[in-house]
Amino acid sequence: MTPTDTQEHTTYPLAFALTPSTTAREQAERERILADPGFGKHFTDHMVAIDWTIEDGWHDARVVPYGPLQIDPASSVLHYGQEIFEGLKAYRHEDGSIWTFRPEKNAERLQRSAHRLALPELSTEDFLESIRQVIAVDGSWVPSGGETSLYLRPFMIANEVFLGVRAANKVSYYVIASPAGAYFSQGVAPVKIWLSTEYSRAGRGGTGAAKCGGNYAASLLPQMEAYEHGCAQVLFLDGETGQHIDELGGMNVMFVYGSDRIVTPRLTGTILEGVTRDSILQLARDRGMTVEERDVTIDEWRDGVASGAITEVFACGTAAVVTPISQLKGADVEIGDAGAPAGAITLSLRQELTDIQYGRVPDRHGWLTRLDA
Ligand SMILES: *Cc1c(COP(=O)(O)O)cnc(C)c1O
Repeated sequence: MTPTDTQEHTTYPLAFALTPSTTAREQAERERILADPGFGKHFTDHMVAIDWTIEDGWHDARVVPYGPLQIDPASSVLHYGQEIFEGLKAYRHEDGSIWTFRPEKNAERLQRSAHRLALPELSTEDFLESIRQVIAVDGSWVPSGGETSLYLRPFMIANEVFLGVRAANKVSYYVIASPAGAYFSQGVAPVKIWLSTEYSRAGRGGTGAAKCGGNYAASLLPQMEAYEHGCAQVLFLDGETGQHIDELGGMNVMFVYGSDRIVTPRLTGTILEGVTRDSILQLARDRGMTVEERDVTIDEWRDGVASGAITEVFACGTAAVVTPISQLKGADVEIGDAGAPAGAITLSLRQELTDIQYGRVPDRHGWLTRLDA
């Protein structure tokens, strides 16, 4: 062993130790849960944990029984919200094999989020291995049939017992997994969206491009406003001019013009760079559609729908894949028809993306990574 081999943060990849659960659910209980898992309600029998300290880097990678964390009340994440997360899915293909979709994109985004939140970066290799480890021990929790999946939630928290305001010198990374049923069990249904004019989710130089819990905390009050107005989600405008479309609380937005053009707000630093967004734009390009990433104003949306130039609007993200938007409502706007059916291009892009994810059509871009072999 050379001296550097003893410094675990210089020795990649990390090796994971397994402590099997002694209370893992029996097959019958698991099958009962998988028959109707809902979303984010049930968790598998194990989780991954990796610790980081400024002295030792990433170390003590382990797979342990799923269960409560013991956190000191002075742990920094509880006070200053230094936290980031990811969301991706494991899909069971027809032949039983288990795959995930563009996970290196999530790994790279977690690194960018870590940078912005002054957290340590986890290598792409260790991120991917952490996902594989969960599937190795809990692969039987990946549901089969329909649009079901095992939702994977990697997250990283500042975990130092210290109330001073600075980046933590102790950090923990975890991966938990939650079986998910089909988002739209009754067919893909369009939703109404609430336009928040009072609140923004991000500002120039802020954390809008990072996937951090703080952004979500700030979106919950406007989200309640949306519910009060019968809407499923909130649309945020840019904080500076209040004219440009940013995104929804947790999904990117796309506009279809006619049958051959797709327009989405450009990444300005206040928008989260969605993997679904990027994939949809690629599929649209593959079809010969014109793809425009640029500023889109609320006036363009209103006028485009009024003139018929904008034919479809949808939101996209890993959880719901693609959600058609029928109507935008706000304090003094109402754009679109609440009863409008889902658009044909919206539905066909959604179908193509899920066909790739579930292995029903060739993976021509090499987007899939096998997790169980
Ligand atoms: C996660 C997220 C998205 C969607 O990203 P995907 O990689 O497509 O799941 C969009 N907006 C916000 C704010 C998000 O947190």
